[in-house]
Amino acid sequence: MSFRAKLISITTALGVVVVTILTFVTVGYNRKILIKSTLEGNKDIALAISINVDNYLEELSRTTKTLATTPAIIECLKESNRQLGSLEELDRKNRIEALNDRWMSIDDGNHVFIQEYLSNPIAQYLKKQQGVIPDLYGEIFLTNIYGELIASTEKLTTFSHGEKYWWLECYNGGKGKVFFDDRGYDDSVGDFVLGVVVPVYDQGKVIGILKSNMRIFSLFNKIIENYSPLYKPGVVKIARTDGVIILEPGKEPLSTRVADGFLPMLGKDIEYGIYQDENNKNILVSVSPISNTIESSQFSFGGDYESIDHVEGNRGDNWVVVLKVPKEVIDLKIYEQTKQFLLIGFLSIMLISTFTYFYIKEATKDIIKLVTLTEAVGQGDLNKRIKIKSKDEIGILANSFNKMMDRLKETMASKVELTEEIRKRIKAEEKLKYLSTVDELTKLYNRRAFNNYLDKLIDYSKCYGEPLSIAMIDIDYFKKVNDSYGHDIGDRVLIKLSEVLSKNIRKVDILSRWGGEEFIILMPKITVEEAYKMAERLRGIIESTKFPNDIRITISVGVTELKNTDTFDDIINRVDEAQYKAKNEGRNNVQIL
Ligand code: GH3
Ligand code: MG
Ligand code: MG
Repeated sequence: MSFRAKLISITTALGVVVVTILTFVTVGYNRKILIKSTLEGNKDIALAISINVDNYLEELSRTTKTLATTPAIIECLKESNRQLGSLEELDRKNRIEALNDRWMSIDDGNHVFIQEYLSNPIAQYLKKQQGVIPDLYGEIFLTNIYGELIASTEKLTTFSHGEKYWWLECYNGGKGKVFFDDRGYDDSVGDFVLGVVVPVYDQGKVIGILKSNMRIFSLFNKIIENYSPLYKPGVVKIARTDGVIILEPGKEPLSTRVADGFLPMLGKDIEYGIYQDENNKNILVSVSPISNTIESSQFSFGGDYESIDHVEGNRGDNWVVVLKVPKEVIDLKIYEQTKQFLLIGFLSIMLISTFTYFYIKEATKDIIKLVTLTEAVGQGDLNKRIKIKSKDEIGILANSFNKMMDRLKETMASKVELTEEIRKRIKAEEKLKYLSTVDELTKLYNRRAFNNYLDKLIDYSKCYGEPLSIAMIDIDYFKKVNDSYGHDIGDRVLIKLSEVLSKNIRKVDILSRWGGEEFIILMPKITVEEAYKMAERLRGIIESTKFPNDIRITISVGVTELKNTDTFDDIINRVDEAQYKAKNEGRNNVQIL
């Protein structure tokens, strides 16, 4: 992997790790924040809904209270109370009981006795009021201070109400108080019915009780629905603190209960948390009590079992707005957020990687140049230099490298020159050495070299007891050649003679020019007899050889063999004598001594 690829891989890998860690840390943190903010937001929505319901309850009580201030109602009540008040208590009770019995025994609503209460002016007035908002109002009816029915918009089950819980709560021992009668679901009306019971006052004294049964289901639904954009896909319910759900979209009122898990929350003030529902799913729950359903100086709230037409009357619980959002909604948001984070993260990595790639490419350009240069140097090219403009560390390195190359080149150059000089000297020395041992004209060994060889061979032959013979050759009448053909031709004859002799001796024999037109041959390991034969053969060859200008020459040869007692001079003198003898014997012959 190249340096660039490594750097880019490391950067990219690091980016992936950082983005992944950052994403999961951020997403984890966001999940917490989102859960908290959702719970708090839901709590505010639940609170807003509860305040709305509170306002609505107040509005209901206000309307009914206004109705209770109608002068005709007050006058009617005063008259009724006065009449009954004039009776003895027992008589009064009996009268009410008798009327109640009669009332209950008559099923026909058009009966004269019943119509007395349903058609009298007050009843007509109440019906008129009921007609203002027919969807809201159920029965409206009025009792006097003794609980006796004065007027009603509908035929009620009973006539006497003075012993009923709602009547007593509203009468409040003569002080009077608005009472919300949470009667539950009324099958006959097909709605959830809340009775608003208000005392009728005259000069600060309670003189009667007015009850207005309200159908609140659709209205509460509307309130909740108004807030739906804020809480959906969550669900808002209105529950009693005992867990029975009064209102839940799509469910029959009072038919369901909240999960046991968050039941304890219902009795508390504004609260929120995560609970498991009946399906073991995590749910974010926010609750807010409806204040006007809690006992206060202004209102009392409650109910009782009602056997006829009503389902699940209240038994001392208050109402609570419950807002539930499945935690899945948060998880989905977090999942989407994670995807977005990762997408943005990886796009950033790609962007950074691309940028890094080009940056590293640019940044390592000079390093690559340096690498190429070192490779060239490694292959022996000392002439390459690097051009780097930057003044950073790489620029400094490149400069140093260039300087180093200059010095190296200088050193290498002087080394080459030195080698060349040494080579020349060796050559010169070799030439000198050659020249000092070789005769310039014939290229044969000169006398100096011959002496050297002879010295050594004498020692060698004596040492190993081997024979050593020597022959001295002198051209006959050579002066004449010079005289007749000139010195140059004489030289050429000498050269030719050297060549002929060289060709016709053994490799181990050493042929030298002794001087002038005299030659000497050292013949190791052969006796004088053998040497004689060889000299004779040479003499014959020369005699029959044509020399330049068809010159014919002969040679006189002296031959001798080394004796054990011989010194260098001894053997030289003896061979010289042999050669001299050959001259005396008439030339062109070989003599042994
Ligand atoms: P001989 O030996 O038979 O008695 O008669 P010679 O004429 O050969 O007499 P000698 O050997 O004394 O003479 C040698 C002559 O060789 C003398 C000289 O002119 C000639 N000579 C010697 N060296 C050279 C040489 O290098 N080149 C030429 N051209 N001639 C040389
Ligand atoms: Mg001579
Ligand atoms: Mg001679």
